[in-house]
Formats: sequence, C-alpha cells, structure tokens
Amino acid sequence: MSASNHSSTPTSLSPLTIAPNQVLRGWGVLPESGGSIAALGTRPLVVTSSRLRKQLASTWGAIAGEHGLNLDFADFSGECSEVSLASLKSQAKQHRADVILGVGGGKSLDTAKLLGEQTHCPVVTIPSSGATCAAWTALSNIYSPDGAFAYDVPLAHCPALLILDYQLVQTAPRRTLVAGIGDALAKWYEASISSGHSTQTLVIGAVQQARVLRDILLQKSLPALNSSDGDWQEVVDGTVLMAGLIGGLGGAQCRTVAAHAIHNGLTHLPESKQTLHGEKVAYGILVQLRLEELIQGSQLARSGRQQLCQFYQQVGLPMSLTDLGLAGVSLEGLQNVAEIACAKESDIHRLPFAVSPDQVLAAMVSTQENTLFSGAIAADGGNT
Ligand SMILES: [Zn+2]
Repeated sequence: MSASNHSSTPTSLSPLTIAPNQVLRGWGVLPESGGSIAALGTRPLVVTSSRLRKQLASTWGAIAGEHGLNLDFADFSGECSEVSLASLKSQAKQHRADVILGVGGGKSLDTAKLLGEQTHCPVVTIPSSGATCAAWTALSNIYSPDGAFAYDVPLAHCPALLILDYQLVQTAPRRTLVAGIGDALAKWYEASISSGHSTQTLVIGAVQQARVLRDILLQKSLPALNSSDGDWQEVVDGTVLMAGLIGGLGGAQCRTVAAHAIHNGLTHLPESKQTLHGEKVAYGILVQLRLEELIQGSQLARSGRQQLCQFYQQVGLPMSLTDLGLAGVSLEGLQNVAEIACAKESDIHRLPFAVSPDQVLAAMVSTQENTLFSGAIAADGGNT
C-alpha cells in the first residue's frame, strides 16, 4: 500500500482533542474546587466580566485564602478579539500567571482558552450559562472588536479543568439556555450533512451522538425551561458537555456547515448584536434546511424544518429575520450577509452541493415557508 493512500488519515501531529482532562460538576461545586485549581498553578489570572467578578467575589476570596492562591482579575472586554488578547497577554505576564481561569459565556471562555495557549498556561473554564459548549472544546472563535466574526483557531488542548457549577449557571437569564439549545441542535444538522457518510469510527460515533443529543433536546427542553431540577440539569449537560464532546470526537471534519456560516455572516450586521450566538445559529439551521429544499428538492429537509419551527415556537428560538430583530435591514445588508456566508473559506461549502449568495438570500427570507407560521408572517407583511 502506498503512502498516498493514507494522505487523508490524521497523523499524530494532529492530536485528538476530545475532552478536558478533568470535569467537576454539581450544585455549588465551584467553592469546593480550589484544590483542583491549586493543583494547576498558584498564580491564577481570572478572565471575567466585572458583573461576575462581583457576584463571585466572596467565593474567590475563600478559595484564594484556603489554598494560598495569588489571584489577579482581568476584565473581559466583551469580544474575543486580537486587541483584547494582546492586552490580556501583557496582564498575564505582569502577574506572572501560571494558570488562566475563564469565567463567563462563550466569548470569555474562548478568550481564556486562547490566552492559555499563547502563554503556555493550563486553562480552567467555568461556564456561567448553558449558552454554548465553549467550556469544553479546543477551539476559539476570534471576532473584530465590533463583534463581527473573523476566524477560528484550533487549540492544541481542551481545557485542563472544566468546572460546571449548576448553581452559577442557574443565575443566568433563561434566554441563554434557549440559545444553547439552538447551538447544540446544530450539531446534528451540520454533522449529519457534512459527515453522515463517513466511514471513520470516531466520526460515526460523533454523528450518532449528535442525533441522540437532538432527540434529548427536542424531548426535554420545554420541561427544562419551566423548571430548575431534573430536566433542566440534563439539558445543561447537553448544551455544555455533550455538544462539546461531539465536537471533540468528530474533530474538524464534523464541525460546522451552513448554520454557523449564516451565523458568521449575520455577525457583520451591527443590528445582530442584540441576539446571542445560539439564536443566530438556530435560525441558520432553518436556512440550511431551506437550501437543501430549494437546491436539492429534499422533502426530508422540508419536514425537518417544519418540525423545528414548531419546536422553536415552543421554546422561543427565532424562526425568521423578523424574530432576530433584523426586519429593517436593507437588501444590501442581507446580500452582504449572504456573500460573507459564501466566502471562499466558509464552511457552507461543506454542503454536498454548490451554493451561491443569491440562493442563500432566497433561503434566508423564506425560513417559514409552508409552515404553520407562514400565514401569520404574510398577514404581518400585509399590514406594514
Ligand atoms: Zn456554535
């Protein structure tokens, strides 16, 4: 067998980054986790928002006192951008940090992970909501200081330690978990289309887990959003842990397709700042399914979209540009989104068919076509 037969086989130079080294989870587990943090370093730099810093001030004080940690805090700017990373890097150096802690949502965790890689420090992620799986994955997304998606950076490791404290996550607004559900659902719709025919064992495993995760979310999300016990905790495990595991197991081939490409395009609209990552991704899933219908005539995609619209209506995920607060965006603005989504390096080209910006635009404005909700939109349109 010639060497070229193995050209597409991953080598040891691209290590598997499947999971964090250690995951601590439970109600009120953060105050108990000082020993695990101290095992990684004694001079932590905590990257977090000023709100969360205040909220957890007494917890940090107790952990530092009990384990002899010299903690310093770095304010997270709100975006994981090259500018914010440069200033954090100098703060880490000044503090002589030997471990980086990220506390917050996806963007602050992505920042802490990349800062850890750049400063050769182990990373601890402490998610404050169920909005993304960023606490788990070996990937950081870089944005412009204005919040426009720029590029992603694969990392050499998953975090050394993930601390999932349900008590902390429960203080986040309900909307963040709804967004996390949207982001986690995308795993199935994107992985199945890009890797559904893979013959690689780990990728097959990831795709099947993505299907199971979708089923769990479709079944448990509504009860979870109306209570804070059993189902809620299972859904948080789905959006924070299992979604991350699927990304880790599937690797680069099993990550994003059109739903995230649409998200990336939307972030270039200033008006899209009011909506969360997972909300834009959830809408992006509908656009992806619509593309499969329009270009391939897929009936399966059509019924999948109809099923999702019903679910979105129940849990409060956006089904349309109007729901995303983008009804007033000009045609040029939407064309620009479609063009960014179709850029040469975009993951939208992992679809099994070619797409043009015009087709993306047509899909973007018709996500509710032939659903129970299309009549309502038509009536609204008639009134304006
Ligand atoms: Zn995502």
